[in-house]
Amino acid sequence: MSVNIAIDGPAGAGKSTIAKKVAGELGYIYVDTGAMYRAVGLYFSRLGLSDGDQDRMASEVSGADVSIRHENGTQKIYLNGENVDPEIRTPEISRMASVCSAVPEVRTHLLELQRKTAREENVVMDGRDIGTVILPHADVKIFLTADPGVRALRRYEELIARGEKAVLEDIEREVRERDERDMNRETAPLKQADDAVLVDSSHMTIDEVRDRIISIVREKCPEEQAQQ
Ligand code: C5P
Repeated sequence: MSVNIAIDGPAGAGKSTIAKKVAGELGYIYVDTGAMYRAVGLYFSRLGLSDGDQDRMASEVSGADVSIRHENGTQKIYLNGENVDPEIRTPEISRMASVCSAVPEVRTHLLELQRKTAREENVVMDGRDIGTVILPHADVKIFLTADPGVRALRRYEELIARGEKAVLEDIEREVRERDERDMNRETAPLKQADDAVLVDSSHMTIDEVRDRIISIVREKCPEEQAQQ
């Protein structure tokens, strides 16, 4: 049986950075489910759909064939056979991903890909509903969060480091809007699973968060205790 570690939390809490490190340390595969929603968001954006077109999103999502491959331990995301990693990290696609992820048909479309990957591999999977909906029996569940101001600042610094233009106030507004949408949608809202461990990274370094999560995994997971 594969070992499944679920890391959920709001945008900018550091999930992907931490999940990658934890996966690397344990020799597991890192699965970024946000990238799957981003690929679908890109598909809709290319179709010219906008926020209000939720009915069309429901009917058109079947045309978005999303798949993942792992190359040298890194997840690559494909949309209808095309690698779309370079295009899915813009503010426009972040918004589109958040909007379309509230459409139940979009969530159903991606659910099996996520579950199948977790059945076949030892995974660290990050997202919003992994511990609550996708992998309710995950071996370890972490809810990783941080203050909205801290999360916005992290996103801002990430964009600036990539040489992109960014305005901190705009990012903070977008972070809060995404939180609002993700937490208040009807289907699979962002929330902490009852059996998840809360980790607040506001005042922790990346390495401290990684170490904390690894120690939670070793506590809860007999397979990993044996490896120590
Ligand atoms: O994690 P990331 O910011 O890349 O996710 C993009 C968007 O996809 C999120 O704002 C959220 O609305 C949506 N998402 C989701 N469920 C997941 C992963 C992401 O609804 N499991």
